[in-house]
Amino acid sequence: METVYFDNNATTKVDERVFEQMKPLFCELYGNPSSMHTFGGQIARKISRAREQVAGLLGCEPGEIIFTGGGTESDNAAIKGALAAAPNRRKVITTRVEHPAVLAVCRDLENHGYTIVELNVDKKGRLDLGELDEQLDENTALVTVMYANNETGVIFPIEQIAGLVTERGITFHTDAVQAVGKIPLNLKQSNIDMLSISGHKLHGPKGVGVLFVHKGTRLSPYMLGGHQEAGRRAGTENVPGIVGLGKACELALNNIKEENEKVKHLRDKLEQAIMKNCPDCRLNGDKDNRLPNTSNISFEYIEGEAILLMLDQYGICASSGSACTSGSLEPSHVLRAMGVPFTAAHGSIRFSLSRYNTEDEVDYVTEKIPPIINRLRELSPFVVK
Ligand code: PLP
Repeated sequence: METVYFDNNATTKVDERVFEQMKPLFCELYGNPSSMHTFGGQIARKISRAREQVAGLLGCEPGEIIFTGGGTESDNAAIKGALAAAPNRRKVITTRVEHPAVLAVCRDLENHGYTIVELNVDKKGRLDLGELDEQLDENTALVTVMYANNETGVIFPIEQIAGLVTERGITFHTDAVQAVGKIPLNLKQSNIDMLSISGHKLHGPKGVGVLFVHKGTRLSPYMLGGHQEAGRRAGTENVPGIVGLGKACELALNNIKEENEKVKHLRDKLEQAIMKNCPDCRLNGDKDNRLPNTSNISFEYIEGEAILLMLDQYGICASSGSACTSGSLEPSHVLRAMGVPFTAAHGSIRFSLSRYNTEDEVDYVTEKIPPIINRLRELSPFVVK
């Protein structure tokens, strides 16, 4: 068996159909979309097409799409841009389980005189909307809450939250990097003011993203320079990336229902087999309300890193927490916020599937895991023999 890739929340394979669309933009159609000549004009039209494709997936107007350099940039631009546009308000509300692209920005704002409120989650990773409601006040400039969690897949009730927040005249942003392409969204009837996307999480290229900004939302540009993106994001456009992201959105829109069913079936089969064949494991998150591709399982009394290394010997790729935080020995901030006990948080593994995974791969991983867990438990100082 070659590589079995169950780490699609870290990044995804670029779809061949996406790559085909990108290829000519390197050595043939390489003009600058801002140029006055016909050669450049063709490229500008490619960007317009991509903008329509993204808007099609999100159910919004093409003019509400700003292309960025990825999910992290979109999150930074939304948060900093919203605060710059509301200088008299000094409070930001977020959650304890955000990706660092939001959490690190918010925590840094504390050094600049802002009050940051991080909402708690319960043991299934769910928010208490009562806590949010109590925190909304006249000093609140922005609420930023992720659509779906990258580690557990838990989906937050974003439309409900957006309603609560915006009816108080407060700007609402959501990091939808893990949700877009995995669950259907429609921003036409929505109260969401801003929403972040990343190309490489939905079979598009890395280093390109989108910030959706609802018409009329007050936002100061975060990147200054040229007039690209109608003056909202300066810098010569990453044309191959933008065109690739557009195609990835079109593919996601056309196939979302069938793909979700297939991926969910594989994920559930994998999860059930692991839970059945490995004693002392627990599922992290809200089983009934999560992304169809994600399963986060804690294997008690052993280290996630050791499991990953042993899986790696069989060519199996998974993750022990988010790719960005692995490398640190601290257990995941998401699992800690959920109150997962120390011995379980350390042994957590995230399996995240995609349209490319197969039944054979699930069977292969299902066969390899129980002996790995047994072997590590034999070596664990936490297991009484
Ligand atoms: N937000 C979430 C929820 C993510 O999972 C990620 C990537 O892991 C990001 C933001 C960052 O996106 P990018 O890698 O495009 O900067």
